Amino acid sequence: MRKIQMVDLQGQYEGIKDRVNNGLKEVIESAAFINGPEVHAFQKELEDYLDVKHVIPCANGTDALQIAMMGLGLKPGDEVITADFTFAATVEVIALLNLTPVLVDVNPYNFNIDTDAIRKAITPKTKAIVPVHLFGQTANMDEIMAIAKEHDLFVIEDNAQGIGSNYMHADGSKSKTGTIGNVGTTSFFPSKNLGAYGDGGAIFTNDDELAHIIRGVVNHGMYERYHHDVVGVNSRLDAMQAVVLRAKLPFLNDYNNARRDAARKYTAAFAGEEKIITPIVCDNCDCHVFHQYTLVIKDVDRDGLVKHLQANNIPCGVYYPIPLHKQKAYVDDRYKEENFTVTNQLVKECISLPMHTELDDEQIKFITDHIKEFINR
Ligand SMILES: *Cc1c(COP(=O)(O)O)cnc(C)c1O
Repeated sequence: MRKIQMVDLQGQYEGIKDRVNNGLKEVIESAAFINGPEVHAFQKELEDYLDVKHVIPCANGTDALQIAMMGLGLKPGDEVITADFTFAATVEVIALLNLTPVLVDVNPYNFNIDTDAIRKAITPKTKAIVPVHLFGQTANMDEIMAIAKEHDLFVIEDNAQGIGSNYMHADGSKSKTGTIGNVGTTSFFPSKNLGAYGDGGAIFTNDDELAHIIRGVVNHGMYERYHHDVVGVNSRLDAMQAVVLRAKLPFLNDYNNARRDAARKYTAAFAGEEKIITPIVCDNCDCHVFHQYTLVIKDVDRDGLVKHLQANNIPCGVYYPIPLHKQKAYVDDRYKEENFTVTNQLVKECISLPMHTELDDEQIKFITDHIKEFINR
């Protein structure tokens, strides 16, 4: 059996080796390292893939969130509502910009931001909602957009884990995640579903004016060379990363399908296991791209299971072990524990299994057999 990895980027590289190697050589020979034709071509290709008017590449997914908020003109004191159960980048940039983070609970079904909790958290100072399509599964965008419309709020979709996911609207039509709110952001961190070989990120929007503002923000606030109209940042995607992303983008749907296949096999192997709750997905639905395959395990010593897997050379992850509202940097007297019952439970019971495009049946059986053996002891 091949060694099991949480993410297998070496295996994936085999399929794109020539394109990547040749493309990198061309960039080096052309010396167009920053912006240039590769970055521009990638931007156009991603716009087509997502069916969105504007993609603005930037240096990483955290910058993408910060730039989106700067572009929307959010001001110190504005309240921004986001999920308590996610990676810290989201709340971090809110705090960095001196906006006020308002963390709310998630729902127990797909671990995405709870829409009733959003409604309860709205005050006259609320300016934006940041749903995260956690683990690759779409947040409840119809409801979130309805709340935003009702209260005149911006919606910034953190799509770092969800690229390629399709949200199905109530009327049956579909949109790619990240293109539904005012603005969407993503990360090309190597382990993401569309990963570079280093850092990278992008911002998406259908709003022409916002796209124009953001193109200046990413480039020192310049709209004309050496005229700095707004305070900006320096956040660029480099051409070498664009080469890798251009090599991978044509395979993104295949990659996501390979992840869905692996997820189906995991779920089938856990059928009938009462202590294991597998991810809930709808039939024939492409609303989940399985950035992570995350189980909720009931009445099991989760940390013991992690050790048991590690002892058998099976990597796994606990995403995330601490709710954001309990992180030292983000604690706030306003938060009440009874409003975070789902997150507080999930941090104790979640476990994410190896998930990537190269998992084979033998590896999946080895992983699931060891989990079942441990929980039925
Ligand atoms: C990875 C990630 C980010 C940050 O992306 P970087 O490229 O690492 O800065 C932001 N939000 C979520 C949900 C992520 O998973």
